Amino acid sequence: MRIAFLGLGHMGLPMAKNLAATGHEVVGFDVSPRAVETAREAGFSVADTGTDAAAAASVVFTMFQTGQQVLDAYGSVDGAPGLLKVANPGALFIDCSTIAVDEARQAHALAEAAGHRALDAPVSGGVVGAENATLAFMVGGSDEDFEAARPLLEAMGRRVVHCGGAGLGQAAKVCNNMILAVSQIAVAEAFVLGERLGLSHQALFDVASNASGQCWALTTNCPVPGPVPTSPANRDYQPGFAGALMNKDLGLAEHAIASTGVEARMGRLAREIYSRYADGPGASQDFSGIINTIRAESV
Ligand code: NAD
Repeated sequence: MRIAFLGLGHMGLPMAKNLAATGHEVVGFDVSPRAVETAREAGFSVADTGTDAAAAASVVFTMFQTGQQVLDAYGSVDGAPGLLKVANPGALFIDCSTIAVDEARQAHALAEAAGHRALDAPVSGGVVGAENATLAFMVGGSDEDFEAARPLLEAMGRRVVHCGGAGLGQAAKVCNNMILAVSQIAVAEAFVLGERLGLSHQALFDVASNASGQCWALTTNCPVPGPVPTSPANRDYQPGFAGALMNKDLGLAEHAIASTGVEARMGRLAREIYSRYADGPGASQDFSGIINTIRAESV
C-alpha cells in the first residue's frame, strides 16, 4: 500500500517516519524547501511535488497549519490538479492538522465528491509525542474508515479515539483545549491569590492536588516551580505547549462558539487572555507562563 504524507514540519516528519518504520511505502512532500531538505537528510523519501507524492496513493495524510491549506491542497489551486485528482480511486484522506470543525467538514465533502473517503484526525501530545509515537488521535468519520485507519494511527500514537462522524475529531480537540485553557488560567490565578494571602506554593499544591481542584493544569503543568519538577515552570516556561499554539486553538474554539451560539463566556475570556499573551514573548513560552501576566497585572 502506497501512503503519501504531506506536511513534513515539526509534527509531520516524525509522524511520517514512525509510519514508514512499520514497513509501508511512505512518500512525503512539503512546500517548504527547508522541510524537504531536513526530511531528506533524515533519510525520508520525498517526492518533487505534492501530486507526485499522492499519485496512485491509497492513503493520503496531511499535517498542515491551517484549514485553508488543507482545502487548497485537496482541491485545485490556480488550475493545477490537487491531491484529490491524482490519488487512487476510493483513497482514504486523513487530515491530522488542527483546523476548524466546518473546514474539516468541507474537506470531507470535497473528498467524498471526488470518490474518496475521509477522516479528520487531529492530535495532542506535541512534538515529543510525535517523535515517540505516543500521540493521542481524535478521529471523525465513518466506522469503516476509522477501522481502516486504526493500524496506521496506532503506528504513530498511543490512544486512538473515534469521536463520531465528519468533523467530530476536531470538535473533541477544540472542546478539550478550551477546558485546558480555562483550567490553566484558574490554577494560575489560585497560585497568585495564595501568594498574596501568604500561602506557600507547596501547601496549595498538596491540598488542591488531592482535593476537588485537582486537574492536569495543576498536577502535570503546575505553573510554579517546585511542586511538579517536570513542569515547564521549572525551566523558565520553555514549552511544552507554546502560547501561540494555545491561542490558535482558542481561535478555533471562538469560531465554533460563535457558529453554534453557545454561551461560553469562560472560553471567550480565555481566548482574549491568551491572544494578548501570544502577542508578546508568551507566543514562544509555555502557556502556563500566563501566571506571570496575572502576577504582573495584579496591583
Ligand atoms: P509546522 O508549521 O511545523 O508544519 C506544517 C508544514 O506543512 C510546514 O512545513 C508547511 O510548509 C507544510 N505545508 C503547508 N501547506 C502544504 C502543502 N500544500 N503541501 C505540503 N506541505 C505543506 O506545524 P506543526 O507544528 O507540525 O503543526 C502541524 C499541525 O499540527 C498544526 O495544525 C498544529 O496546530 C497541530 N498541532 C501541533 C502541535 C505542536 O506541538 N507543534 C501539537 C498538536 C497539534
